[in-house]
Amino acid sequence: MKIIALEEHFLPQHLADYWEPSVAGMPKVTYDRIKRRLFDCDTLRLEEMDAAGIDLAVLSVSGPGVQTEPDAALATSHARRANDELAGKVARHPKRLAGFAHLALQDPQGAADELERCVRELGFCGALINGQTLGHYLDEERFFPFWERAQELAAPIYLHPADPERTYAALEGQRLLRRPTWEWTVETATHALRMVFNGTFERFPGARLILGHMGETLPYLLWRLDSRAMLYREPGDPRPLPSGYIKRNIPVTISGVYSDEPLACALAALGEDNIMFAADYPFEDPQVAGDFMRAARISESVRAKIASQNAIRLLKLPA
Ligand code: MN
Repeated sequence: MKIIALEEHFLPQHLADYWEPSVAGMPKVTYDRIKRRLFDCDTLRLEEMDAAGIDLAVLSVSGPGVQTEPDAALATSHARRANDELAGKVARHPKRLAGFAHLALQDPQGAADELERCVRELGFCGALINGQTLGHYLDEERFFPFWERAQELAAPIYLHPADPERTYAALEGQRLLRRPTWEWTVETATHALRMVFNGTFERFPGARLILGHMGETLPYLLWRLDSRAMLYREPGDPRPLPSGYIKRNIPVTISGVYSDEPLACALAALGEDNIMFAADYPFEDPQVAGDFMRAARISESVRAKIASQNAIRLLKLPA
């Protein structure tokens, strides 16, 4: 069975300073293990992919990258350099690695142009966005040119978690609940729901937003989101309910959620064509991810779709 992994991180040296705050408070031994792997795309990474049975990894910059850079021109040049560097890494191992673009959304028009360059010239599969950009979310009008281009290119955009601009009052000082444990789930689900509720997918029906982490809880919440949307709607509003957009526009990956019960929920809620594999390397153990993919309690035809067939279709990868 072929396995394609979609949320696989690397770190260009020139973006390391942006990355450091995202791992604050981590034990040094964990930090060292992760950082070493983020810089490697030639040896250890490929060995660990082999051991875990992962055939192809779609690489992306480990967050937040340039998205926290206040100087838009610097962010743009840093992003372009990261993409050129990634293209070089993919070129060394074209059968094992592919790329998602890194974009400076401080300049939405420039980000659209860079997305197009990455897809058309560098052969990338789309882009991965690390959460909000200087407090701006992807449903805002300023990003319409970006979504228009993504739709035109049929380029999926992976929304990866990152810090909110300021944390929530209830999470102040809660080191154990910050970041991936809980804060990023709330932040990323909120970001996606802003797009669902504020009309992004009404305006750009061809846009595809990929969410990791089994959909950041959204598959579990479809009924309630629809029910509460109806409570606040004018009677007779003809627009689809939130679940309609989530099922149509938001495919998900299983990154970092290697457990049968949430997978069963995501399959029931979104359908077998909307779920894809990811190992979230090097923040998760690829062996655990690969073993789950092979052993999950699903039919063999669904397994093949999640492991690679859905990604081949959505990312337009060579079969
Ligand atoms: Mn990740």
